[in-house]
Amino acid sequence: MAQTSYSFFKEVCDFVDYASKYTDQPKGLIDQIKQCNSIYRMNFPVRIKAGKFEVFEAYRVQHSHHKTPVKGGIRYSLSVNEDEVKALAALMTFKCALVNVPFGGAKGGIKIDPKKYDIGLLERITRRYTSELIRKNFIGPAIDVPAPDYGTGAREMAWIADTYMAFNPQEVNGLGCVTGKPLSQSGIRGRTEATGRGVYFGIREAVNIFEDMVKLDLNPGLPGKRIIVQGLGNVGYYSAKFLQEDGAIIIGIAEYDGGVYDPKGIDVEELQKHRQETGSILNFKDAKNISDPAELLEYECDILIPAALENQITIQNAKNIKAKIIAEAANGPTSAKAEKVLLDKGVFIIPDLYLNSGGVVVSYFEWLKNISHVSFGKITKRYNELNNQRLVEAMESTSDTNLERKLRAQLIKGAGEYELVNSGLEDIMIKAYEEINSVMKSKELKDLRTSAFINSINKICVSYLEMGIFP
Ligand code: GLU
Repeated sequence: MAQTSYSFFKEVCDFVDYASKYTDQPKGLIDQIKQCNSIYRMNFPVRIKAGKFEVFEAYRVQHSHHKTPVKGGIRYSLSVNEDEVKALAALMTFKCALVNVPFGGAKGGIKIDPKKYDIGLLERITRRYTSELIRKNFIGPAIDVPAPDYGTGAREMAWIADTYMAFNPQEVNGLGCVTGKPLSQSGIRGRTEATGRGVYFGIREAVNIFEDMVKLDLNPGLPGKRIIVQGLGNVGYYSAKFLQEDGAIIIGIAEYDGGVYDPKGIDVEELQKHRQETGSILNFKDAKNISDPAELLEYECDILIPAALENQITIQNAKNIKAKIIAEAANGPTSAKAEKVLLDKGVFIIPDLYLNSGGVVVSYFEWLKNISHVSFGKITKRYNELNNQRLVEAMESTSDTNLERKLRAQLIKGAGEYELVNSGLEDIMIKAYEEINSVMKSKELKDLRTSAFINSINKICVSYLEMGIFP
């Protein structure tokens, strides 16, 4: 599906140029904002077995230092290359600015098919990559903070944290050198599902706006919306699960080895179990197998959620897409040319830099937890519960009624880390949607991506202009 002339980074830069026309920011500053400030390309050998070595190609790109540390995931995939990492690092800058997470953007990757290596080797490769980052000062809680991305997860983040701590035992905030760690390794509750939860909040906000849904000939609200998801990785799975729990119908799911389709709806949790048992999503209950997963993107549905890799909706398939809404859970799933075709057809696109920002938002919470050395709610939970209890008792005695047990318990319960993380994320996603939606309408733009970029560019420019450019 990849076109040879396609440059993901160029597409991001072109978008910045386009959106900057709607701002008053100086051209020189826009040129600076587009560039990747530091690009580290490395090759390192790892002993695969006695006497056998393999050389790995890897990257870490720091896109913008207008805020530090810089932040972004680490991807393990055979598609990793310099252009891709640069584009993804740039998107991180705009994503963080959009949701007011005070980081610059970064991204890393190792060109590797993680399925081909056992855990021991993956650990060795990850630790070796981390030591290369340490060697060049490309990692640290105040410098550059990686996180999971396509092909990596909490396990890899734990290895990275441990390697960093081994080299920097004196660093009291050292565990903030990476986010997305397991809970027992100073991770945070809610991080694993954060991107998917953010996708759910974002779609829910979009479909609740009456006038936007009327234009699409859709009823407002999530219940009953027919959804197709491409990719049942961490982001796709949790997005589908939360959407389904709120009444949406997941009618199709595509994976790399094929897709499943059932207009009556697919139970996402059961499908996940089925995959764990059989190794594939195929042959699931009454669902129809679709041998070419790309075909599913073109099926009739209300919302299409690409949750895999970039450049999946291209000029080749855009004209055949029947979804009324494309909700970009992946980074860069729609090419610029495809987007033009889709917008002309009246498709509503919820852009990646907004929709999948839940991951980095909760990463920010984890980093805060790590540098403050205390989990959210730890000090206040009990105190709040006692206060709530006093209030409930006062209410009951003045009204001379006893509240129903469940309601009483809900009113008294203090917020712990999980509740605080999720409500913080929800608040950020709601506010950011209001912002991009109102800019789109006030500037009479055709799409949310332009308004998201305008918002981010303006915020980044303010940072640069206020801090001054170092002479
Ligand atoms: N890899 C995720 C993203 O693309 C999360 C990055 C982070 O948490 O730093 O947004």
